[in-house]
Amino acid sequence: MYDIQVITPLGDTVTARYTIQPDTCPVCKRACEVKAIGPKAIYPQHGDQAKKKLQLVHRCPRQACGSLFVVEYSARYDSASKVYFDVSAVYPRTPAPAEIPEGVAEISPKFVEILNQSLAAESHNLDQIVGIGLRKALEFLIKDYCITKFAEKADDVRSQMLGACIKNFVADQNIQSCAKRAAWLGNDETHYSRAWTAHDITDLKVLIGLTQNWIANEVLTAKYLAEMPEKPPGRT
Ligand SMILES: [Zn+2]
Repeated sequence: MYDIQVITPLGDTVTARYTIQPDTCPVCKRACEVKAIGPKAIYPQHGDQAKKKLQLVHRCPRQACGSLFVVEYSARYDSASKVYFDVSAVYPRTPAPAEIPEGVAEISPKFVEILNQSLAAESHNLDQIVGIGLRKALEFLIKDYCITKFAEKADDVRSQMLGACIKNFVADQNIQSCAKRAAWLGNDETHYSRAWTAHDITDLKVLIGLTQNWIANEVLTAKYLAEMPEKPPGRT
């Protein structure tokens, strides 16, 4: 625990106890020895101690970043019923970009864009719309993948429902199995009632990850088989 002098909305200086400093920059995501630099604020001026917040401005010490950010602490009570402040949020909330395997972004740049927007929504605790975004990202991934494979049937792919598209145009069993289940969970995110009560957004993210990985495996395998169809002549 540390004691710090902080300023109230009316300009008074009071002492607040708070827990650890963050050890990671929320902008560049690198571990670093973060230091609080002014200003240091506590708010609101009046009211319940338990609802007070402490905000400290920090700066990332890395020369390659150097961004300012705010660490917000919420009031807690210790075992002696004394108020202290513990980290509850860090602003800006900048999620790390989604990990996309090689080849997938070329097939569906929109999938990557929508997936990253969904993760941004998740980082802002917008939990009611994250699943809807993931469901949309899945549709773009599957339809763009199908159009890549069946360019002559692009209009059919675009017009069909996602489930039908997976069934009719995805031949690889691993991609089809994972995409089908991702679509089931994704549809749950858009409907009033859930069909899959034991599975949630975490499972949906895993299934979308599996789907994109199976697609990447297929695309990369096909690429190398096409580039290296046979051994060079004279080699054993
Ligand atoms: Zn940084």
